[in-house]
Amino acid sequence: ADAFDEHCDYLFKVVLIGESGVGKSNLISRFPKDEFRLDFKPSRGVEFAYRNIKVRDKLIKAQIWDTAGQERFRAITSSYYRGALGAMLVYDITKRATFVNVGKWLHELREFGGEDMVVVLVRNKSDLDQSRQVEREKGKGFAETEGLCFMETSALQNLNVDEAFWK
Ligand code: GDP
Repeated sequence: ADAFDEHCDYLFKVVLIGESGVGKSNLISRFPKDEFRLDFKPSRGVEFAYRNIKVRDKLIKAQIWDTAGQERFRAITSSYYRGALGAMLVYDITKRATFVNVGKWLHELREFGGEDMVVVLVRNKSDLDQSRQVEREKGKGFAETEGLCFMETSALQNLNVDEAFWK
């Protein structure tokens, strides 16, 4: 609750997850600067971005969590997932291995996260279509089988990043 803001009526947590290098930090940095701030908690190894959403007279705050590289050391703990209402599970279309491991991340999400967490499978680096190693249909098929939302983004070109969040 250290990040709770008294002026907000609702707070919800969204986690970013996926292999190292898929573009999570770049995705989080794409949220409009006037609507988010980045906090870094080195002690926890977690990075947050906040996004305020006004619905009628209520202020809703999305707290987006990034692993800050901890996935490299397989050091993501269950507290990272705890209480998350949404997750963006990211892979890189130019690296097959990042897609192969998506199932493993999904398993963790389901084990430690809430039952009805909304998961968006984010296929990042869509600008690098010429170096693609994962067919679009594969990603889409996996998302459909697992009941996930599916989104293609380019953090580099700032394509669909906002849409992925709102899904
Ligand atoms: P993380 O380890 O998942 O947080 O990944 P980063 O955000 O650090 O990105 C890893 C590398 O991929 C960096 O060199 C980024 O510049 C690059 N990158 C991230 N997103 C994109 C993208 O959409 N397109 C391209 N071409 N490169 C990207």
